Amino acid sequence: MPQPSNQPSSQNSAPISAIEAELERFEQEERERLGLTDAPKQNQWKDTINRAFYADQRAHTKVLVSGLTMAHDMFVQAGLEGLGYQIEALDCPDNEALQLGKEFGNRGQCNPTYFTVGNLVKHLVNLRDKEGWKTEDIINKHVFLTAGGCGPCRFGMYVTEYRKALRDAGFEGFRVMLFEPNGGMHQATGQEVGLKMDKDFFLTLGKAIFVGDALNAITYRIRPYEIEKGATDKAIVECREIIMGALKAKKGLLKSLWRCRKILQAVKVDKTLVKPKVSIIGEFWAMTTEGEGNYRLQRFLEEEGAEVEIQLIAGWILYNVWQSRVDTRSRMVLKGSDEGTRKGLKTTQTTKRFLTLWVAEKAVRATFKTFAFCLGLKNYKLPDMEENAKVAADHYNTELRGGEGHMEVGKLIQNVIHKKAHMTISVKPFGCMPSSGVSDGVQSIITEKYPEAIFLPIETTGDGAVNVYSRIQMMLFKAKRAAEDEYTQVLNQKHLTVEQLKSRLSKKPKFQSSTHYSPHVVAGTAANLLCEMA
Ligand code: SF4
Repeated sequence: MPQPSNQPSSQNSAPISAIEAELERFEQEERERLGLTDAPKQNQWKDTINRAFYADQRAHTKVLVSGLTMAHDMFVQAGLEGLGYQIEALDCPDNEALQLGKEFGNRGQCNPTYFTVGNLVKHLVNLRDKEGWKTEDIINKHVFLTAGGCGPCRFGMYVTEYRKALRDAGFEGFRVMLFEPNGGMHQATGQEVGLKMDKDFFLTLGKAIFVGDALNAITYRIRPYEIEKGATDKAIVECREIIMGALKAKKGLLKSLWRCRKILQAVKVDKTLVKPKVSIIGEFWAMTTEGEGNYRLQRFLEEEGAEVEIQLIAGWILYNVWQSRVDTRSRMVLKGSDEGTRKGLKTTQTTKRFLTLWVAEKAVRATFKTFAFCLGLKNYKLPDMEENAKVAADHYNTELRGGEGHMEVGKLIQNVIHKKAHMTISVKPFGCMPSSGVSDGVQSIITEKYPEAIFLPIETTGDGAVNVYSRIQMMLFKAKRAAEDEYTQVLNQKHLTVEQLKSRLSKKPKFQSSTHYSPHVVAGTAANLLCEMA
């Protein structure tokens, strides 16, 4: 079976060989300087990578996916099944996955690694020990698709962690396919590949992600105000089934969203309830997962009486577009200073690149807006990355990459100055380098500068949930007071009483719909409804 080639392509072989020659010369000089000319050369350790997944294996190979929210994972599964792949979305990682991740992973990793790596190991161990699969069949009939990439934090090491843990757990040679947000797909070439990275693939992934985003956003808007407990979750289960059907059939997605809109509208809500709005920001995985990886943070906040504002995957995509735009601006300035043939800057077509990025951003926003409109998600604005960078820039160097970069600082400032939320929680795994190590340090200056900010950074370790819950409850008390004060202030400004508001509402059924969302004036949903009614 052909293996992936490690040889540089002919296109970039010249600069690489020049660099290697330079390094060899330097090594020789250093050896002479240190008197080590006769010392034997050490062989560097190299990871053996099995990425061999070919088209003729598709029929009997299951592609395992996981890592986003349940809605996203399910929609990715349905979409890719529609393209003819066998896909299985893994369960949301739990503490058992964390234990397995710690058992088979290296020391000193951040816990998204342990949770996600352990979750895969847990699934494979279950196949072997509970379902009776032979190890050889597990390895030959499954591949795992995950996001990866290079980066200044541990994210760049995830794929190596997967391979190490799988090897130590007895699944040597299990294929982990790495999908990089900026760099496409790493997989074997020379034969028709198993996962075809073509237009259909990316369109399907895009649809799954943006529909998942829209559904999640509307869920968190409706559930805190439902009158009958559990009605939203019931509606969401129905909606997921309908959307999955459309994605799998590769047709009727907009129609299916319209059907879901009706289902969601049937959920009875009371949006006059005054609730603090809590914005969850932080490290990407910790703020996205819905399970034990963040102590079920979103659910806990709702049970404590808050409305949660989540971050969407579309925001992360826009951040990547923003990064590329900044890099392209730098390339314009540096043009001509680097003559490398492949990644060099001499031939960079910056105008074309800008145009591509402009189209990409428009496409992201337009697609999301279309899905949101069909689903009934109103007055939802995707983040403005230029503004986020601008407000963060005084406190955080926006050239620093890794994790959420400057975004956490920008989001907290935007939450305060635009009255987007009463409270902001920044959740991150214990020891997360960009988030705990850098952003949280900067946030102490932001809270000094904006004393009205109610900000709580929390670190997740897998244990210690009680401690985290108690800290949240204490801060939430302040946020509840802030929401009540804001509501009373708006009532006074508009010369209205709660009874008058309820009487007006009873005459306007449109405003009582679960999908109705008043335009943003202040943070609270009830206060915004009051502004609109007044
Ligand atoms: S952002 Fe933090 S938690 Fe995420 S991979 Fe990097 S170091 Fe780990």
